[in-house]
Amino acid sequence: MQTYQIVTIDGDGIGAEVNPSAIAVLGEACGERLRFLAADGGAAHYVKTGAVLPADTFAACRESHAILHGAAGLPGVTYPDGTEVGNDLHLQLRFKLDLYANVRPIRLYAGVTSPLTGWGAGSIDYVIVRENTEGLYASRGAGVNLRGEVVTDTLVMTRKGVERVARFAFNLARRRPGARRDGQRRVTVCDKANILRSYAFFRAVCNEVAADFPDVEIDHAYADAITVHLLKKPDFYDVIVAENMFGDIISDLGAGTVGGLGIAASAEVGDTHGLFQGAHGSAPDIAGQNLASPVATILSGALMLRWLGERHGDATMEAAARRVETAVESVLARGEHVPRDLGGAATCTEMTSAICRALA
Ligand code: ATP
Repeated sequence: MQTYQIVTIDGDGIGAEVNPSAIAVLGEACGERLRFLAADGGAAHYVKTGAVLPADTFAACRESHAILHGAAGLPGVTYPDGTEVGNDLHLQLRFKLDLYANVRPIRLYAGVTSPLTGWGAGSIDYVIVRENTEGLYASRGAGVNLRGEVVTDTLVMTRKGVERVARFAFNLARRRPGARRDGQRRVTVCDKANILRSYAFFRAVCNEVAADFPDVEIDHAYADAITVHLLKKPDFYDVIVAENMFGDIISDLGAGTVGGLGIAASAEVGDTHGLFQGAHGSAPDIAGQNLASPVATILSGALMLRWLGERHGDATMEAAARRVETAVESVLARGEHVPRDLGGAATCTEMTSAICRALA
């Protein structure tokens, strides 16, 4: 029986609540198949020790099958350049482990009311694939601040970087049933090719990759226009591939159409490693009060199971992923336990128990 070692980093704020919740649910779904190894990291750890990602944590991440993370970041804990320390935890993991594809599914679950009128369960169901190691965020820590007068950050794109994330998006489209509207497998390239050479390059390389996937339609949308399309015709989308910062922004918008950050799962994967955490931050405003929704982290855990299953040819892990997603959806649909961010009153621990019961 194949078992998997999962490094778990709670981090800061609600990370210490939602990560144990996801561990409980994944343990219920997979039993002895998952071995959890707790590791330190985050802004509070930085304050204590000077390291946001300690060397032993990084070594464990590198040597384990997957990483499950709560969230990191504390208000006021910043580097001298003003940027937040907490974000550096997953940014370092992204770059050091080459996690080039950030997968953010946008799905309207039963029991969740979209702020968009007329959309029911499952009628919004697409995935944003955000390039995760280049683009504008590649300049983090490397921008120039000239005597406090002139500041620059450079947008970086490489052929290799764009090609591999585009290929990832097309391969993902092949494994999906197509867009909700018409069943067409489709990859939408989100850019500003009309304004900047970098984005024109991004589009051109995506078009080249598309030639290898004649069964998947290629579509194009400018980053500003797609914010309107995602509100007006979300069922048209199947897989969207975008540069790092654009992907970051449109995935929060997409999350807003299906219930918000508390339900938005996220997977950051490369060819050999995977990091799984909800799309939200450490939410210091509600931390330590048992108010956070663990749903985003639990659904990210389901993405982890699916990724492990695909990577290791293990159908039982893929089946466990589906069971976790179904358990979450059945709890939300019954309406007895609804987290506060979705209009209910269930605490983090109540949600966890309800989902574990649904699984059992
Ligand atoms: P970051 O930049 O680190 O992603 P952020 O500044 O976008 O973080 P979050 O920490 O994600 O901010 O919080 C944004 C808002 O969403 C806060 O009001 C927070 O309480 C709420 N929120 C985030 N995650 C959850 C959750 N799991 N459950 C309930 N509310 C949440």
